[in-house]
Amino acid sequence: MLRVITGVVSVFATLLSGTALAQDYPTRPISIVVPFAAGGPTDTLGRNLAAHMTKTLKQQVIIENRAGAGGTLGVGVVAKAKPDGYQILLHHIGMSTAPTLYRKLPFNPLTDFEYIGQVADVPMTLIARTGLPPDNYKDFITYIKANRDKLNLGNAGLGAASHLCGLMFLSRIQADIQTVPYNGTGPAMTALMGNQIDLMCDQTTNTTGPIQSGRVKVFGVTTKKRIPALPFVPTLHEQGLKDFEVAVWHGLYAPKGTPKAVLDKLNAALNAAIKDQQFKDSLVKLGAEAVTPDRATPESLARHLRAEIDKWAPIIKAAGQYAD
Ligand code: ASP
Repeated sequence: MLRVITGVVSVFATLLSGTALAQDYPTRPISIVVPFAAGGPTDTLGRNLAAHMTKTLKQQVIIENRAGAGGTLGVGVVAKAKPDGYQILLHHIGMSTAPTLYRKLPFNPLTDFEYIGQVADVPMTLIARTGLPPDNYKDFITYIKANRDKLNLGNAGLGAASHLCGLMFLSRIQADIQTVPYNGTGPAMTALMGNQIDLMCDQTTNTTGPIQSGRVKVFGVTTKKRIPALPFVPTLHEQGLKDFEVAVWHGLYAPKGTPKAVLDKLNAALNAAIKDQQFKDSLVKLGAEAVTPDRATPESLARHLRAEIDKWAPIIKAAGQYAD
């Protein structure tokens, strides 16, 4: 009997201390796992967000790059992390494509996470190394078709946004070229600027600077409307790829079981960031856009993730792309 009472008391003590801990949260630095290499688009968005969340949470928010396998390694790390709010995840559209692309996945996006909210939308650009001969879109397409055996396209692995965009573009122009996977498009961009790989379709958070300074050639943006940071770049849609549209959505996640009080604080910090003019402006400069407050909610992220899983599954199955 005494043992039972002691057991019950200790369970209550644990629960109470859990609540107290959640209320005091955060008492030490928080890490946001970015499942791609440093210097790339997710890293850039993550660092901007972390700086603004640091202000609200009054604790250092740092970025932890856990790259590999198209982002799935880092997601797996957070799926198994302690649900205490000190290791959370920033990931993009890949969260919705991985369940169809990968036969074996170390996580389930629908059951292993708590949702904090959507963060930002990032258009993509079709770019090439400066040494590639064509200078306009029409010549570019002709050149790809004539040189399909010699060209290659860099990406951040299966399921990365650069992989999906490359796949959609090549299938639309009916050309198949070799792909070169990197741990992120940060290192892929270095290779492209060094004329070591030929093409890439990458997010503007990584390409706006190199495009503006002429370190890469650009052949189009992937949204239907031109973007303010690159007004001189025509859309693929207006150049003939009718209705071509890819924008990369991003969400913030915590491991399943994270206390509600902790999730609420993280959500409040996310909302403070997306409403902050400085944060919004920093994204616009990079061609991206912070979400509106109605999308920075757990419900909106959960709904969007589910809809995107359903949207991508038939497209990926039709393309016959899988990994083990
Ligand atoms: N988001 C990836 C990165 O940060 C790139 C990608 O998804 O294509 O490297």
